[in-house]
Amino acid sequence: MLQSKLFLRTQNESPKDEVAINAQLLIRGNFIHKLMAGAYSYLPLGFRVREKVIKIIREEMNALGAAELLMPALHPRSIWDMTGRWEGLSKIMYQFKDHSGRELGLGPTHEEVVSLIAKSIIFSYNDLPLSVYQIQTKFRDEPRPKSGLLRGREFTMKDLYSFHTDQDSLNEFYEEAKKAYHKVFSRCGLKSYATEASGGDFSKEISHEFMVESGAGEDMTMICRLCGWAQNKSISEFKAGGRCLKCSSGVLEEMKSIEVGNIFKLGAKYSEPFSLNYKDKKGELRPVVMGCYGIGVERIIGTVVEVYHDEKGIIWPETIAPLSLHLLLIGEVKPPLKKFATQVYNWFMKEGVEVLFDDRENVSAGEKFVDADLIGLPRRLVVSEKTMVQESVELKERSKKEIKLIKLKELSKIFKK
Ligand code: ATP
Ligand code: MG
Repeated sequence: MLQSKLFLRTQNESPKDEVAINAQLLIRGNFIHKLMAGAYSYLPLGFRVREKVIKIIREEMNALGAAELLMPALHPRSIWDMTGRWEGLSKIMYQFKDHSGRELGLGPTHEEVVSLIAKSIIFSYNDLPLSVYQIQTKFRDEPRPKSGLLRGREFTMKDLYSFHTDQDSLNEFYEEAKKAYHKVFSRCGLKSYATEASGGDFSKEISHEFMVESGAGEDMTMICRLCGWAQNKSISEFKAGGRCLKCSSGVLEEMKSIEVGNIFKLGAKYSEPFSLNYKDKKGELRPVVMGCYGIGVERIIGTVVEVYHDEKGIIWPETIAPLSLHLLLIGEVKPPLKKFATQVYNWFMKEGVEVLFDDRENVSAGEKFVDADLIGLPRRLVVSEKTMVQESVELKERSKKEIKLIKLKELSKIFKK
C-alpha cells in the first residue's frame, strides 16, 4: 500500500477539542476524523484496524456456535412499548417522528427486535438451544461524550443473544461465552477481567463486565490479582486492602478500568412480554430463557490505544495493526534508490506481508520517522542510499529501541508468512 495514495495526512498538533489520549492519537495519526462529539469517520488506516477487530470477534462468535444475522437500526415505537423500554430508555434512545407522524427510534440495543424474530423460529424444546449475533451500528444519546472512541453516540456493537429451555442450559452457554470473550480481548492484546456487576437495565441478576485496566476508564473495579476475581466497585461490599473471599490469600485492590464487554442472564424478562414460548416434552408452553452478550468494537480500539502508546504515538499489537510493516524511503530519491526501494516493497507484496510504503518524495527523513512512530505499525524498515550500498535494510520494532541492519537475502528468514 502506497502512503502517497492513502488519503492520509497526519497532524503534529493534538486536536484542541479532544481530551482523551485515544482520540488525540487516532486523530493525529489520521485513523479517524471527528464529525461531532461521539461520531467519527474511519479513514483508511482506522478502517483496517476496525476490520481486524471485527474479524477476530466474528471468528470467536462462530467458534461458539452462534450464527450471524443483521437487524435494522430503525425501530417502530410499538416494539419498544412491549417491554416498557420506550419510556424506560428514553434518555439514551434517539426517538423522533417521521413525516407521517409515526414514532420511531434508533436502536441502542436489540433484545426487543431479536425476541420478535425468535417468535417465528422457536416453537419446541427441539429447536433449542440457539444463538445469534450481529455486528451492527448502535445509537445512544450519551451526554457529553468526551472519551473519544470509548464512548460514541454512534458505535458498532457485536451483540449476541442466546435462547434456552432452562437456566442450566443458559448457564452452560454463559460460561462458554465468557471464555470466548476472554479470547476476543486477548487476541486484541488486552487482558480482561470478568467482573461481577449489576444487571442494569437488562436484568435483575448479576451480570459480568469485562474490564481492562486503564487510567482512562470510567469504572472502578475491586480485583484480586492473585486469582483474578473481580467485582465492580459500585456493587461491592468489600474494601481495598481486605482479603479476597474467593482465594482467601490475595489482597483486594481498586483498579481503574474500561468496560469492553458485558454479558447478562436475562431469564424470561424479554420472552414473557413477547410471549416467546416453546412447548416442552409434555406439550406445555414455557417461556424461552435468554441471555445477551455485548462487545464494543470501537471501545476495543480506543482501549488498545490507551494501553499501547508512548509519547510519540501508538504501538499497535500485531493482531490488529492496520498493516504489519512500515517501509520508509529515506534521503534524496534518485532513480537507483527508488528502484531498490520498489524492489523491496514488491518482495513484501509478493510474500503477502502487509506493508505501508512511505514512498513520498520531498518529505524529510525526520518527518517520516515522526509519522511512523505516530502511526505505530509493529515494524519499521528503512531503505536509504546507505542501506542500498550494503544490499540491506534497517529494521526497528516500534516497541523497541535497537535498530538492526538486515541483508536483503536474510529478509525471508525474518518475515515468514
Ligand atoms: P457504559 O456503562 O460504558 O455506558 P453500557 O454498560 O451501557 O456501557 P452495554 O449496554 O453493556 O454498555 O453495551 C455492551 C458493550 O458495548 C459495552 O461493554 C461497551 O463495550 C460497548 N459500548 C456501550 N456503550 C458504548 C458507547 N457509547 N460507545 C462505544 N461503545 C459502547
Ligand atoms: Mg455494560
